[in-house]
Amino acid sequence: MSALGFEVMLGALTTTGSLLAFAKLQGLVRGTPVTYKGQNIFNMALLATTVGIFIYLIFVPGSMPLFFTMVGLAFIFGFLLVMPIGAADMPVVMSLLNSYAGLASAATGFVLSNNVLIIAGTLDGFSGFILSILMCRAMNRSMTNVLFGAFGSAATSVPGADGKQGVMREVSLEDIATQMAYAKQVVFVPGYGMATAQAQHAVRELADTLEKRGVTVKYGIHPVAGRMPGHMNVLLAEANVPYSSLYELEQINPEFPSTDVAVVIGANDVVNPDARDNPNSPIAGMPILEVDRAKSVVVLKRGQGKGFSGLENPLFFKEVTGMLYGDAKDSLTKLVQAVKDA
Ligand code: NAP
Repeated sequence: MSALGFEVMLGALTTTGSLLAFAKLQGLVRGTPVTYKGQNIFNMALLATTVGIFIYLIFVPGSMPLFFTMVGLAFIFGFLLVMPIGAADMPVVMSLLNSYAGLASAATGFVLSNNVLIIAGTLDGFSGFILSILMCRAMNRSMTNVLFGAFGSAATSVPGADGKQGVMREVSLEDIATQMAYAKQVVFVPGYGMATAQAQHAVRELADTLEKRGVTVKYGIHPVAGRMPGHMNVLLAEANVPYSSLYELEQINPEFPSTDVAVVIGANDVVNPDARDNPNSPIAGMPILEVDRAKSVVVLKRGQGKGFSGLENPLFFKEVTGMLYGDAKDSLTKLVQAVKDA
């Protein structure tokens, strides 16, 4: 009963939690945190009731109605657990759910006396847990803060940065091509938009063209760029970008002041200076790629769309920034030709 209870409880909350995470990531529901007053207390009470029934069932295992009540409550708890988490914290919740799924499988292994399931589940569970901790560190957040960040607050929703900005400056393809062609160093900062546009091969082609002209090309990789851990690394590896050209956050940030052009390719949240400058921002404290410190910034995106967190990005309104609108792959392909002609 202990193993079975543990399995169904974790399994049920993982199922509904994952479904909600999926809906948030697919944009089927709003990705921003949904909070209300007393949320954590309610969630804790629900969890305590579920665990209470579980403990009771260990001693009195015959009660079917109670068993199904426990399963039902766990289903509801999974949903409520993910509801207040959103924006930049989603990577943590994803790896955490992955970890729960592993632990549920390990418990199933005990129920079925299946060693493979026990070992595989335990490995999955603990690697997911380690990944969650690493993700938290990468985002400068504590696990408690991610899971219980909504504690006592109904007003932590996204404060619009609207009103304090100026206008977004659009720049022409030829201007950007000239800037890049005569630069000493160009840093590409890929994000989710590069993945959706499948622009990794075009990025590589542009880098090759620039390198042939003697420009140093580097890639700044944020740990939570894209929609899964290592997303950018996988895509760039697929396009045969040399691993030695990829730079982690701490390595590339000091280089931005001496970078002539930082090219943001479909990235948004990971370059949002509000995380560094605005303590009231929901992503405050999350380390960012400080492209705004480069001599010139070019942002490739389709329009005025926000990032996963749904926050406004002051980077796009800075004087140093020029916007090139259009699908990333399309823009990059045109830039390759324009750099050759420059
Ligand atoms: P992002 O903040 O989601 O921004 C992506 C940007 O790409 C959007 O502003 C969008 O603007 C643009 N875009 C979309 N399609 C495009 C296309 N075809 N061509 C050009 N641009 C396009 O992405 P990010 O900076 O990579 O940040 C990742 C976010 O996802 C973070 O908030 C992170 O916490 C979250 N997240 C990460 C993971 C993970 O494990 N890595 C998991 C879950 C959530 P337009 O619409 O204007 O084009």
